[in-house]
Amino acid sequence: MSGILVLAAHAGGTFKRTATELLGKGKELADSLGVPLFAAVLGDAPAADLGQFGASKVFVVGGDFSSYDTLHVTAALKAAVDASGATVLLAPSDFTGADAMPRLTARFRTGQATECTDLRVEGGRVVGRRPTNGGKVSADVHVSKDPAIFTVRPSSFGQPAAGGGAAEVVAVALDFAGSGLTLVESRKPETTAVDLTEAERIVSGGRSLKSKESFDSVIRPLSDALNATTGASRAAVDAHFAGHDEQVGETGKTVNPVLYIACGISGQVQHLGGMRTSKVIVAINKDPEAPIFKHATYGIVDDLFDVVPALTAEVKAALS
Ligand SMILES: Cc1cc2nc3c(=O)[nH]c(=O)nc-3n(C[C@H](O)[C@H](O)[C@H](O)COP(=O)(O)OP(=O)(O)OC[C@H]3O[C@@H](n4cnc5c(N)ncnc54)[C@H](O)[C@@H]3O)c2cc1C
Repeated sequence: MSGILVLAAHAGGTFKRTATELLGKGKELADSLGVPLFAAVLGDAPAADLGQFGASKVFVVGGDFSSYDTLHVTAALKAAVDASGATVLLAPSDFTGADAMPRLTARFRTGQATECTDLRVEGGRVVGRRPTNGGKVSADVHVSKDPAIFTVRPSSFGQPAAGGGAAEVVAVALDFAGSGLTLVESRKPETTAVDLTEAERIVSGGRSLKSKESFDSVIRPLSDALNATTGASRAAVDAHFAGHDEQVGETGKTVNPVLYIACGISGQVQHLGGMRTSKVIVAINKDPEAPIFKHATYGIVDDLFDVVPALTAEVKAALS
């Protein structure tokens, strides 16, 4: 048997946007290869609904996955791939993608293309395209063994239209005796905003904010008005204007939103490496020579302390 299997990630039973996004792309690839599209679900979620996005079968591994256990997740994914007979696995390049997917790749002794921003069929196989060298170059990654594993940056593809009937749900038995790992502590993020890696809209601030107080009173209100997630440059994080989990860049998070607003960020290569693939980049900087402008879709050369509050007021008025 062959087919494309999509890991349909969910939070407490609600499928994430990455699930439907990957199913949409997976369907396109599956149709091109003439193979079926499957989904894998770990834990309790309305699996049959994924038929609306083209999955003919959904392989469900039951159990409690609410506390992340890397060995449990890896074993469950392996069971789902084995049960489906899929030759291609697509997963989001989120935390699970970064942690469990390399383990899974090693278990199958196969290859993995990480952080892809595009997928296509060539010569009867799926090929992943990913940014490399800080986003300056794109590489095509061919995986010659099966199952070929691809992790994909969220928001790389659009959302598919729903349609079609329910999928067949297949329960997958998992022989897992426990990992021996003990969860010592679990901390919830302080914010309720969508994680940066999955955010559709991001408003980021840099060193130019000068203090945590001005970061909170200038950047976060625009972020809230746009229902966006707040990000920061490393300089802003090092100065304690923002939290470490908000850092965007090579040593922070890699993001791929539809809209990225960089406020008072110069655009050094290490920052660009984490956000260069954003679909629309708006740069606000008072220096017309700032490198960020070379990558911006729209640039505003002005003082952010004037522009950002005015923009926030306009957004609020437009959305009220
Ligand atoms: C190994 C390594 C890893 C790194 N990893 C990361 C990383 O993950 N992420 C990251 O961001 N950086 C990273 N850096 C740091 C990076 O090199 C830059 O130092 C950092 O990105 C600069 O942050 P910034 O743009 O906020 O500050 P600056 O470079 O100081 O830029 C501030 C900008 O604000 C503008 N400005 C000032 N005042 C105003 C105003 N009132 N209105 C409008 N514009 C104004 C200025 O013109 C300037 O362009 C890394 C560096 C190293 C060596």
